[in-house]
Amino acid sequence: ALTGLALAGLAAWLRGRRAQRRAEELLRVGKIARLNALGELAGGMAHELNQPLAAVLANTQAARRLLEDDPPELAGARGAMTNAAAQARRAADVVARLRRLVETPGAAVARQPVRLEAAVRKVLDLLDPELQRRAIDVSMRGQAPPVMADPVALEQIVHNLLGNAMQALEDVPAGQRRLLLTVDTDGPAAGSPQDGTQHADSQPPETGQGILTVQDSGHGITPDALAHLFAPFNTTRSGGLGLGLSLCETLAHTMDGTLTAQNAAPRGAVFRLVLPLAPGQA
Ligand code: ADP
Repeated sequence: ALTGLALAGLAAWLRGRRAQRRAEELLRVGKIARLNALGELAGGMAHELNQPLAAVLANTQAARRLLEDDPPELAGARGAMTNAAAQARRAADVVARLRRLVETPGAAVARQPVRLEAAVRKVLDLLDPELQRRAIDVSMRGQAPPVMADPVALEQIVHNLLGNAMQALEDVPAGQRRLLLTVDTDGPAAGSPQDGTQHADSQPPETGQGILTVQDSGHGITPDALAHLFAPFNTTRSGGLGLGLSLCETLAHTMDGTLTAQNAAPRGAVFRLVLPLAPGQA
């Protein structure tokens, strides 16, 4: 009986130990998860800051050498210091960009009726020299009634999507670099005449939605990137911060919209932005 009791006691003690070890293990894993997120943040920052800081160092060292020359090389030193200052400013910009994002992920958006086509045209105008220089063939199709959106936020999303598409087209031979933008609606536009088509089995949404797709003929989204596409600090680009799409998705959500992505056939990526149509737009 005594051995039985001792064995039971031993078993209980072992169970306790195991439970404690499991708890410790969970805590450790939790800490690691937090450390990983921190590590990713630090990694992204380090990546973007490393290059300008290295340039500041190289330029200030060069300036000192030039000043120690006999006679001192003042013009050269001045040039090196100008470069150092420009690079330091770049590093400060990176930090400011990140701080803005952390502080105001969905900076209050002011919504009004906006045309998707108009927003796209504006961004295309802005990027036109770059698109031409890169020999990218751009086409735009379709139209939709105005959507409810903050014009600046909408342009920021389009700008980011086009920027990413241009990067994805960098390793595509000239002549095969295509960018297709489409504007469309889904469901009836409120206040717009019905087309007479009846959908007996599918309930059309109360208000329609405006849809913008941005499709490129680039390398497509890697499985790695696709798995966490809209997560912050998810990047496959050297020098990328991985914040663009995360920001775009946040902006789309603040405007009651969605942003999704998939790979296109036979190649490339297609991003789809859906925003509610403005009410009462004829
Ligand atoms: P970054 O451009 O700094 O990497 P983003 O959030 O804009 O950050 O993009 C995250 C990642 O998504 C990119 O690194 C890339 O791997 C992938 N990606 C985004 N847009 C495209 C695209 N048009 N084609 C292929 N991959 C893309």
